[in-house]
Amino acid sequence: MAVTWSGRWNHVRKVTERTGPFAHPDFEPSTETLQFLQEVCHILVIGAGGLGCELLKDLALLGIRNIDVIDMDTIDVSNLNRQFLFRPKDVGKTKAETAANFINLRIPGCNVTAHFAKIQDFDASFYRKFHIIVCGLDSIIARRWINGMLISMLSYEDGELDQSSIIPMVDGGTEGFKGNARVILPGMTACVDCTLDLYPPQVNFPLCTIAHTPRLPEHCIEYVRILLWPKEEPFGAGVAIDGDDPAHVSWILEKSQERANEYNISGITYRLTQGVVKRIIPAVASTNAVIAAACATEVFKLATSCCQPLNNYMNFTDIEGVYTYTFEAEKKDDCVACSQKPQNISFCESDKLQDILTYLLESTTYQMKSPSITTAINGKNRTLYMQSVKSIEEKTRANLKKSLAELELCSGQELYVADPTTPSSLTFILQMGTKME
Ligand SMILES: [Zn+2]
Repeated sequence: MAVTWSGRWNHVRKVTERTGPFAHPDFEPSTETLQFLQEVCHILVIGAGGLGCELLKDLALLGIRNIDVIDMDTIDVSNLNRQFLFRPKDVGKTKAETAANFINLRIPGCNVTAHFAKIQDFDASFYRKFHIIVCGLDSIIARRWINGMLISMLSYEDGELDQSSIIPMVDGGTEGFKGNARVILPGMTACVDCTLDLYPPQVNFPLCTIAHTPRLPEHCIEYVRILLWPKEEPFGAGVAIDGDDPAHVSWILEKSQERANEYNISGITYRLTQGVVKRIIPAVASTNAVIAAACATEVFKLATSCCQPLNNYMNFTDIEGVYTYTFEAEKKDDCVACSQKPQNISFCESDKLQDILTYLLESTTYQMKSPSITTAINGKNRTLYMQSVKSIEEKTRANLKKSLAELELCSGQELYVADPTTPSSLTFILQMGTKME
């Protein structure tokens, strides 16, 4: 098949071979820009799901030929309505390989390399190969990890950031009819951890609304799930709700319906009930398409300098009409990931190690998942608690109940914390005083 034909890249050349009022000050129209996109530019796409399929298609149609894609999943039948690079015959195959093959066959000249793997399987030498990394992930942990990896690859000379060590990260996220796209220049602009409070741990309805003033079908379902189920114990004492057990879901559906009738609320269905119980947020193809298009445009802008990149965070919703808003998320001076500053944490001598662990898990700043804590006493490393290795967990579990005084930890003690949300361990400095809220 011909790799190119007359007029094939006219849509791109209109932008790369002419200037315009929004062009970056350094931009010079040139035929070399398209050549750079096609021959040199190397982009990594993380995720080959709803956003990833769109991203691969968009980037390939913008003229980018050297693309790698990482995804650890295989194709499920429920993906086929929106992950359009997959067909029924592909169910069970790996997303990365299937998506790469599809693009390579469909878009002549494009060369997508698939990695059926986790992002954690690769180290800095792999990530350093790319000009730009674009993420279409559904996991905040993975997002934070790749963010941490790109930050760990920055080099500083006399405290000055070496600009050539920066690999820009373009990140897209969607949840139902809501989405966002952002551009991160690691070390320079707000990183994922700088804005961690934009990802609330979980959306919950206020209990008073659920109990007294329900307005939505979801409020009624939550009422049954949170208040009625433990009170009535319909399937026996202590039996937890199983969102995949039709008997459980039907019981919740029936009771939710009764409550909804009392308040004149309509819209309760089996599907919605199961969705609320299992906390399923439906994936919406159009939201993915918009967010991926925004991300691909940012990759194109960064790669060609044809236009100033997004500064730096765009929100989008298409719940009622279409709404979008762009703002500059601020880099946090003491960000745990990108500030290069150790974190001060304050506790009392009588607090237990468990209190520190709980704080790291629950604070909106850190939102860790399974932290391991080590320290150095008189130059010797000491593991205070480690969750990831079973034998060490058992040996160190007793420390959780000990007070900081019993563990001989005092003010100024450095604690090193490793967590799946970051590739490198973080340094905390313990201050004895009052416990942090
Ligand atoms: Zn940061």
